[in-house]
Amino acid sequence: MSALIEMKDVEKIYQKGRHSVHAVSDAAITIEKGEIIGLVGESGSGKSTIGKMLIGLEAPTNGFITYQGANLWNKTKFKRSLPGEIQTVFQDPQSSLDPRMTVKEIILEPLYALPSKVRKEKGGLDKLMALINRVGLKAEHLERYPHEFSGGQRQRIAIARALITDPSFIVLDEPTSALDVSVQAQVLNLLKELRQERNLTYLFISHNMSVIRYMCDKIAVMYKGKIVEMGTAKCIFENAQHPYTKILLSSLLSIQDTTSQKLLFAAPEKSESKNACVFFERCPSRTSLCEESPSFEQREEHHHCACHY
Ligand code: ADP
Ligand code: MG
Repeated sequence: MSALIEMKDVEKIYQKGRHSVHAVSDAAITIEKGEIIGLVGESGSGKSTIGKMLIGLEAPTNGFITYQGANLWNKTKFKRSLPGEIQTVFQDPQSSLDPRMTVKEIILEPLYALPSKVRKEKGGLDKLMALINRVGLKAEHLERYPHEFSGGQRQRIAIARALITDPSFIVLDEPTSALDVSVQAQVLNLLKELRQERNLTYLFISHNMSVIRYMCDKIAVMYKGKIVEMGTAKCIFENAQHPYTKILLSSLLSIQDTTSQKLLFAAPEKSESKNACVFFERCPSRTSLCEESPSFEQREEHHHCACHY
């Protein structure tokens, strides 16, 4: 495998009136070609912000993001010389599909963002038909509008739309979180199959550890804008190091488990130190050492963690 995307020292600060929100700090992620990397963490931890910087919706405040070795962002300008290479599927197909457009228009729209020469190569009615069949839709669906479909079907439309430009890389931001469990499994399986068939690379964002376990080869755990642990799925699920990762994993286990109980019910305490570990407030294992932010260190091969313990 070789690196498709590299993020180094990436920081995103949002300005909200006089306040600044550190949505992402010091993010370093390498995404290898063909892998599914999961980004997990509770709401507000910065997952979508990372996704948005990779698809060109938000510019990083600092740091570098490269795609196949070339900078993706030139200051605040997103590189447009990658026609259709990077696509996305969002959580809520209700709001991400334009209700006034037919399914056909929705799926074909990303082609119109491409230079006309590239569009000709990638377009074509045969291709559209093959694609909608592949995602489980029918020709008769093409002239209908999004509100005529179920949540699962709408997400299939969104997937066809993401695939129409033959991308290499897709950001999937909570793609099944709005769906019923049985429908969720069908869509996840479709995404897995498409990855194999089309040699795709995914950034898969979810707050749900069991979905992450089902989908991902590698996992980055985020808390308050920082990646606190990253490793192969095996490392994270069999040998989690960070107390926050252990809390996330405890959601998969029985509440009888005493260590996770201790973790879940630790009394919050604020640190006086500005440079404290991001997890200080909720960590049951904190000591005075944690007033100083831990560095992100290697624990085993392909496994890093930011914790003094
Ligand atoms: P997640 O996807 O993990 O729920 P986000 O990346 O959406 O987290 O948000 C990370 C942090 O950045 C949150 O505190 C959120 O309120 C803040 N944030 C996100 N988008 C904006 C924005 N456009 N303006 C100001 N703050 C934002
Ligand atoms: Mg989000």
